[in-house]
Amino acid sequence: MKEENSYEVIKEVFTDYLKKHHHRKTPERYAILEHIHSYDGHFNADILFNIMQNDYRVSLATVYNTLELLLECKLIIKHQLGGQFAQYEKTFGNNTHHHLICTNCGKIKEFSDKQLRISIQSRKFAHFYPSHYSLYMYGLCGKCKIELKSLL
Ligand SMILES: [Zn+2]
Ligand SMILES: [Zn+2]
Repeated sequence: MKEENSYEVIKEVFTDYLKKHHHRKTPERYAILEHIHSYDGHFNADILFNIMQNDYRVSLATVYNTLELLLECKLIIKHQLGGQFAQYEKTFGNNTHHHLICTNCGKIKEFSDKQLRISIQSRKFAHFYPSHYSLYMYGLCGKCKIELKSLL
């Protein structure tokens, strides 16, 4: 039996999507997916591009293009946080976690909360069947808090 979040399973999802939408199945696209699969946490196109320089050379344009495809087939999500760069995260193999977002610099920190998990899991919704959830909490990171204070 294949493990739910194994690279093989994720790859199948991507392959189906590429075929269905008549996109080319290039080794570059799979190499990018493989790197995302083994990467934990949030990333942007530049981070991914830099990681990949070590073992598989792709152009930044290919990274952007592949991220768009992965977004469309929902293997990754894009955090819309108003920061300087869009941040992405894989949707598979992640534990439920929440986000602390700095509204000044766009930095994201993650946290999990056992109490919150218990109360949300026991919550029933009429005519709605939740699959996953994530909380976004907005504020200032420690660095920005200090910086902004010094401007006053
Ligand atoms: Zn900040
Ligand atoms: Zn996250």
